[in-house]
Amino acid sequence: MNVDPRRTKALARALDLRPVKSRGQHFLTAPPIVDGIVTCAGVGPEDGVLEIGPGLGALTAALAERVRRVVAVEIDRRLVAALNELFADRPSVHIVEGDVLAVDLPELLNRHFAPETPVHVVANLPYYITTPILFRLLEHGDRFRAITIMVQKEVADRLVATPGTKAYGALTASVARFARVEKCLDVPAGAFFPPPAVASRVVRLVPHRPSPYAGCREGYGHLVAVAFKSRRKTLANNLRQAHPALPIDWGAWLEAHGYDAKIRGEMLAPDDFCRLGAALWTLLQ
Ligand code: SAM
Repeated sequence: MNVDPRRTKALARALDLRPVKSRGQHFLTAPPIVDGIVTCAGVGPEDGVLEIGPGLGALTAALAERVRRVVAVEIDRRLVAALNELFADRPSVHIVEGDVLAVDLPELLNRHFAPETPVHVVANLPYYITTPILFRLLEHGDRFRAITIMVQKEVADRLVATPGTKAYGALTASVARFARVEKCLDVPAGAFFPPPAVASRVVRLVPHRPSPYAGCREGYGHLVAVAFKSRRKTLANNLRQAHPALPIDWGAWLEAHGYDAKIRGEMLAPDDFCRLGAALWTLLQ
């Protein structure tokens, strides 16, 4: 195996592999960034890793040095062929050709990892499908110790935003239902070949275990959708618009639950979405 991020560009040329923009192909070229991602992930020799989009294997190689097994799902057949050669002498690395949004994730995990193996997701994500991948992973969050991903900095800002700020929104609140999010490291565009148009950041999501929101799942999701439908409206107005058939004074309803009648949805923290969402869900049944 000879995978060195500093040689990413030369490797792509040698393999006659032109990065495809529409597949979000931006390959890491900076060893300190690769090391930073692996350190942030906090993986150890007993762990398994699910990598999404291994590309030319820069991160895959660093992970393989540290963990028991790496299973990497790559959509691009050209890269799959290259990776199979690059990692031919590494039986702990298994390359799976496929679309991560289409693979049967529980089946994949069961096939490759023993039930007692702690599994981490570590990935430099293709940005065009960050959100669907993220929710796909979080749906199966109970299978993962942590999910360490590189995302656009703007998305990272939304993931860690606090209530009442501009970046706080449906994405923040929806992800918070599943996991706690930690910031790791900033990655400049120059750390990739070819450089993306945006700055990037690595974040680490630790799925709640047990989830404090297990009892309010539907209500939480529904209230998040209602609360952020129109950010300029008060929560009471958004509730009125979402439920025109219910003869309820929503301002009074909010006050009865301990909230200001004129509160905006963006002021609600995850615990509020759970408490108020559960009450709303009961009303809707
Ligand atoms: N991990 C490599 C690195 O850091 O250098 C490459 C990361 S690159 C940002 C994203 C990778 O995801 C590309 O290799 C791309 O082909 C792959 N990819 C894009 N869409 C995918 C999908 N739906 N399923 C699996 N892999 C995908």
